[in-house]
Amino acid sequence: MRLRNIPGSREVIAENEYVVHEEQSHRGQWKEVFGNDHPIRVEIGMGKGSFLMEMARRNPEINFLGIEKYSSVLLRAIEKHEEAPELTNLKFIRMDAEEIEAVFAPGEIDYIYLNFSDPWPKDRHAKRRLTSDRFLARYEKLLAPEGGVTFKTDNRDLFEFSVEMAKECGWNLQVVTRDLHGSEFAEGNIMTEYERKFSELGNKICMMRIFPPEKRENQEV
Ligand code: SAM
Repeated sequence: MRLRNIPGSREVIAENEYVVHEEQSHRGQWKEVFGNDHPIRVEIGMGKGSFLMEMARRNPEINFLGIEKYSSVLLRAIEKHEEAPELTNLKFIRMDAEEIEAVFAPGEIDYIYLNFSDPWPKDRHAKRRLTSDRFLARYEKLLAPEGGVTFKTDNRDLFEFSVEMAKECGWNLQVVTRDLHGSEFAEGNIMTEYERKFSELGNKICMMRIFPPEKRENQEV
């Protein structure tokens, strides 16, 4: 059975305390959802959520929101979160990233993580890639003044496309590495589920850390 078709996942999600419901009505008020004014970082396409759980554990003064399109995948993240109820700084939203501007107000997101985003290899689907110029323009609006984006992938074609997009859109490329694990940036790196899987197969992991035009480049992430 395909994971996304697990029966009952929508019902479980509808009632779960870690999932934010009616996400569009929180636009501009996300700090109230967490009950504090800590910065909010978002992973788009978080999958089963292990990266964000570790981030939330290591950074209790930061709030983390995981966005995932498929209920059945989100269900796995919920199951893990239930084993760590102390992580009150971590919540999930089931939504398609295409809707992101309806869900967040300009400047509301402190930082964005894109980990092993879907490659959409066909040219005619390029605009669906989460690092396309269309998405970069959205992130530029939604990021706080010091905000940026970190993107990791083992897909070299997608990575080169993303580097080109960032350059074309005038973003500052603070870090670009095609061998993250062999670089100085490996220290403190939290591996995602896909990152672990693909690096065990011997694939090199690419990473870029980029900031929109005019934004500060030196935030620690
Ligand atoms: N980030 C995780 C990791 O690195 O282990 C999961 C990577 S997985 C290849 C990509 C995930 O992004 C999938 O769970 C998929 O459902 C989700 N996804 C893809 N496109 C999305 C979109 N437009 N909006 C929200 N989630 C999306």
